[in-house]
Order: sequence, then structure tokens, then C-alpha cells
Amino acid sequence: MESRTRPFGIDPEPTRVDLEQRASLVRVILDAVPGGVVHVATDGSVVEANAEALRILGYRFDDLTQRFISSFETTTLREDGSPCPVAEYPVARVLATGEPQEPVTIGVQRPDGTTSWAIFRAVPARGADGTLTGAIVTFLDITERKRAEEKLRRSEAMWRSLASNLPDIIILVGRDSRIVSVSRLFPGLSPDDVIGAHGHAFVHADYVDDWQRCFETALIEREVVRLELRGAGASGATSWYETTFVPIVDAPGAEGAELVMLVARDVTERRRMVAGVAEKERLASIGMLSASVAHEIMNPLTYVLANLDFALSDRCPPGARKTKALLDAREGAGRMQQIVWDLRALGRSGSEELFYVDVRAVIETALRLAGPEVAKNVHVSVDLGEVPGVLASESRLCQVFINIFVNAAHAMTERPVGERAIHVRTRTDDAASLVGVDVSDTGVGIEPEHLGRIFDPFFTTKQTGTGLGLSISKESLERMGGRIEVDSRPGQGTTFTVWLSTTRLPAAHAVAPPAP
Ligand code: ADP
Repeated sequence: MESRTRPFGIDPEPTRVDLEQRASLVRVILDAVPGGVVHVATDGSVVEANAEALRILGYRFDDLTQRFISSFETTTLREDGSPCPVAEYPVARVLATGEPQEPVTIGVQRPDGTTSWAIFRAVPARGADGTLTGAIVTFLDITERKRAEEKLRRSEAMWRSLASNLPDIIILVGRDSRIVSVSRLFPGLSPDDVIGAHGHAFVHADYVDDWQRCFETALIEREVVRLELRGAGASGATSWYETTFVPIVDAPGAEGAELVMLVARDVTERRRMVAGVAEKERLASIGMLSASVAHEIMNPLTYVLANLDFALSDRCPPGARKTKALLDAREGAGRMQQIVWDLRALGRSGSEELFYVDVRAVIETALRLAGPEVAKNVHVSVDLGEVPGVLASESRLCQVFINIFVNAAHAMTERPVGERAIHVRTRTDDAASLVGVDVSDTGVGIEPEHLGRIFDPFFTTKQTGTGLGLSISKESLERMGGRIEVDSRPGQGTTFTVWLSTTRLPAAHAVAPPAP
């Protein structure tokens, strides 16, 4: 192999032509390096600069080599944006100390007004005898990176400000169930109380198991789940939160989620309002029903009075006839007692407390109460099989069924009399610990575009409707750990299914798959 005693083809005693060639080669090399390179003389004047240095600093070669480093003082910035004095330039330190310097990030305002950011390094340049002849400054353009960092910082600041101003509280919980960050603190709590605490530390004991289940569903199954829960501790004990558990998935193929984001919305006021509206609606339905019930009582009452009058009159011979009249009166009074009994079940203030109730008895009461409104020319058939007790508030559940029966009757007013039918049947879903009640009618059905809206408050298609019945029913059932479903064929009829829980822990319902 040829020995390389003549690097770059330069003779030990170069000629002028050789020197020119060498200078132009060095220039080509300098211009080819990806960073800026500047040679500064000991007096601080700029002697040489490569193309990248000119690009970063925004000067032409002739302009830059006219300048001293001190002339940049007014146009340079530290990383934090404050002015950067010349004394902090690595080149100035090299010239002052003769020692190589640590890199420093400096922003340089270019003549065109834009700012370049670069990491500057400087090393001493020495002559053959070792005396300092100046400094070589090298610098790498990081303007794009700075811009991206700034953008990220701004967007983070924007999200942080948005999160801290939202009415909802956003809590990030790690895989170990510990709180990583929180957008806003509950009154009276410090960050030390919250960060690192268990995710359900501020959840009422009754809801801790549900919380844990929802958290695991979000973390492991990566599903978005929602849970309405009660707060705990001095600040939140009387508050209710609708909490959405959102899995935060980092890597696409990762197993489970990285974090779970909890978005907690204070729904205490909404619950209070709905409870108030439900109560008013309940009273209104009693008002509506009482007119029909009065009519219903009138028949047995007339019957009772007629029999008593007869028993007391001279026309009634003592003995068997009199006894029969009194027994008939007794039977009529018994029917009236049943009606009043049913009305009292509905009139009982709808407390939040849940008890085990026999859903069939509630259906029968609701049918008797809604009967006067519903039964006119409607064929009502029931198929109430043996089902386990369900957790419910009896009066609220009764109101739910009355509303469904009355709606069914309203949907059939246009049908010929012989075709108006309501069928009620019970069924069970043992695996999910649920009892279902199907109420089918042969009414007009619900248009597909209305199906998604019928449970919204105030949605009605009726002249005199309030649009509250189904929304209150849905809310009431969900509070009992149940739910309501609808299946309808326009022109043929509708089936509402009420699902009620046979266990105390309500199942959480998945609301949507996570965003891809
Ligand atoms: P309202 O009865 O006051 O309208 P609801 O909330 O009880 O309020 O019902 C909302 C709407 O749902 C009704 O206006 C009607 O359009 C529709 N709907 C409810 N039940 C039935 C049914 N069985 N058949 C057809 N439409 C129904």
C-alpha cells in the first residue's frame, strides 16, 4: 500500500500554488461540516467563518469578518431569554483563559430579526510556539428543536390552564393505582395529601369496590367506563361525582394502559335537581291518576252504598238476603281499599334507599293504578314468571312502570280497538344477576331518528307531553343499579325492557371504546 507521507498532496516546502490549493481545500472541508465554525483572533475580531456559520448567524462573509465578538452583545440571549453578556460567550472565556470551554446554548438575533439558537463551543488556537493566536468557535443549530420545545411548552401550558379552569377535576392515576397528578385540588387539601395517595382515597367506602373494578377495566381492558360515585373526606363527603375512567395508552402494541385519566364531574347539584323534578313529576302523575282513580272508586262506592241502603231499607227481609247485601258491600269496600292502598304506594316519598322488592307485585300495582288511563279498549296480558327479588325503591319503580304503560297506551290511540295490546313479561339474566321486564305494545313505534333522544329530558312528540317521564325513569333505574332499553319497529310497536339488579353492587357500564 502506498505510504501517505504527503497528506493532501502537499510538499514539505509548499509553493504558492500549493498553498492556494490547500486553502481552498480547507475551505471546502469547512463548508462541508454540518456545524458553524468561526475563527476569532485574540483581539476578538472574526477572521474566518464557514457557510453554516453564516447561515446560522444570518450574515454575509464580508459583514461578519468586519465584526468583533463584542458587537454581538446586544443581540444575544441566554436560554431563559434574558440578555447574554459577552463575558459568558465560550469564545470570550477562551480568549481570557486560554482554556477550552464547556458548551453554552445561546440565542442570536439575526439581522433579519429572527433568532437562531445554537450550542456554542470554543477551543484555543495556538501558533507553532504555543502562543494563543485566537479561538475556534464551533456551533450547532438547535433552532428547530427550540421551536418544537417552545411549541410543546406552550401547548402543555395551554392544556394545564385549560385543565385547571375546567369545572371537571382531572386526575392521572398510575398502574400502581397511585395518583400521579391532579388538575385542581379539593378545598383544604395540599398537593402532598393528594399526589401519591391511592386513587380511591377520596371515594366513599360504599363505592371503593366499584372504583377498583372500573379502574381495572380501563387499565387492563383499555375501555372507557363511567361511574357515578360519592366523595369521601371532609371536603367531598356530600358531593357526587360522575367519573369517567379513560385509559391512556402510550405505545400502540403495549399491554394494558400506561395511566388512567379520571375525569370527575361534580353532579351533586344535578342529582338534587333531578330528585326535585322527579318528585314533582311523581306528584303530577298522582294528580293525573287521581282523576281516573276517583272514577274507579266511584263504581265500587256506588255498589257499596246501594247494598247498604238496601240492607237498611224495609224492602230487605232479614236473614240471608240481608247478609248477602252486607257481604256485597264488604267486597266493594275491599276493592276500594286496594285502590287506596296502591295509591299510597305511589304517594310514599321516593327515598334513595333501596330494598329488595318483588317486581311482580310492583307491576301489578302499577297496572292497577295506570289501569283507568290504560285499560280503555286495550288488551293487557301478563306473563309474570317466578323471579328473584330486585333492589329498588318501590315507589320510584312503580312510577317507572306507570309511565311505560301510559306511554304504551298513548302510542296506540290511532290503532283500531281490537289491535291495541300491551304484553308484560318477566325474565332473568342469572349470569349478570339481573331481572328483566319487557313491556311490549302494538303502537305506532318510534322513528329511528327519535330513538336516541327519547331518554333526553324534555324530548316529547306529544302535544301535551312533558318529555320527562323516560329521562326520569332512566335516571331512577340507574340509581337502583338497573337500566332501561328500547326496541321499536315503526308502525308495528315498541318494547321497553327494564333491567333490575338482584345484587347490591351495580354493574358499571362501558360507554365507549377508547380512541384509537
Ligand atoms: P312524554 O310522554 O311526556 O312525551 P316521555 O319521556 O315519557 O315523555 O316520552 C318521550 C317520548 O318518547 C314520547 O313523546 C314519545 O315520542 C316516545 N315514546 C315513549 N314511549 C313510547 C311508546 N311506547 N311508543 C312510541 N313512542 C314512545
